[in-house]
Amino acid sequence: MRIPFQRLAADADPGVRQAVERVLASGRFVLGPEVEAFERAFAASIGVAHAVGVASGTDAITLALTAAGIGPGDRVLTAAFSTGYTAIGIRHAGATPVFADVEPGSLCLDAGAVAPALEEQEVQAILPVHLFGGAGASWGMLLELADRHRVPVIEDACQAHGARSSGRVLGSFGRAAAFSFYPTKNLAALGDAGLVATSDEALAARVRSLRSGAQGKRHHHLALGWNSRLDEIQAAVLNERLPGLPEANQRRAALARRYRESLDGLPLRFVTPGPGVEGSSHLLVIRTARRDALREHLEGAGIDALVHYPAALTEQPAFSDAAVAGGACPVAEAAAREVLSLPLHPGLSEHEVNRIAAAVRAFFARQEPGGAVSE
Ligand SMILES: *Cc1c(COP(=O)(O)O)cnc(C)c1O
Repeated sequence: MRIPFQRLAADADPGVRQAVERVLASGRFVLGPEVEAFERAFAASIGVAHAVGVASGTDAITLALTAAGIGPGDRVLTAAFSTGYTAIGIRHAGATPVFADVEPGSLCLDAGAVAPALEEQEVQAILPVHLFGGAGASWGMLLELADRHRVPVIEDACQAHGARSSGRVLGSFGRAAAFSFYPTKNLAALGDAGLVATSDEALAARVRSLRSGAQGKRHHHLALGWNSRLDEIQAAVLNERLPGLPEANQRRAALARRYRESLDGLPLRFVTPGPGVEGSSHLLVIRTARRDALREHLEGAGIDALVHYPAALTEQPAFSDAAVAGGACPVAEAAAREVLSLPLHPGLSEHEVNRIAAAVRAFFARQEPGGAVSE
């Protein structure tokens, strides 16, 4: 039996079907009571005053930045290692990304790389990425730096649903945070969906306006705005699934611990969420210089492993005009050659983790000491 990377169809339980039926019967499909209920519930779950549902995580980044006053001519400092959508979100706000390097352990923004950038570059906002649901060892230092330089922090929390640092939920630290509910995320819709979380009432009001074409009165557009509305079917599914998020995250964390125990002693490293950070275990990411060969070996053993991400943002042609803090991001670029994500989702069984771990062990057993391959 193949072990797929995820099993998204199997996750659509009867409650989810009922939620969809409820919306079909209501005849209300975009921005209605389900969206309002979800916004309230999600804001409460992370401890912020406001949440505004939008069409995707990418839009949430763009609208949060725009509502925070960021636009053309501004520069937004972000992590050099993330999905391209982080930088796309910045770009669509009209701003230019400034990429800074990440920590080798967490692959999250390194405050040590941010500090000189804040001194040398004109930066109007910092957009840290809670990559794989972590925050990094220098998260506290990063917040202090932003505070000292009076630069707003907008969190890319698209992988961090329910993750905590020092007991506080990620996505509640910054001026605002962007969440995604893409079907592969810890809290998943059945299509595209996103949300801006904030305790800044004026910022929330601006996002609310921007997502619907910046209308004042109905059919009177005060500015360009976007069409980035959250639909009722997605919101109903999210309402159904939100209460199960803590348990699903605990299950992910337990499976991640099992992976760590089972792969102990092998010549590989785990990407970790950072000290004092209870990550969301969004992905189980290991690092090895023999990443491509290991992936091929797992493929042969019937196990799907994926690469998040095969290129740093500094290496993407789409962002070649971005600035690079310190001129280079060697940690991010090395990570892109070494990271491998193993299957991790709440529906994965211990037996499957054992099978995957055995396959990884078999791969390294074929190697000579020192890393050379014996074949
Ligand atoms: C998924 C994701 C996004 C984009 O969210 P979409 O809903 O796919 O637009 C942005 N940043 C990170 C870190 C993500 O994981």
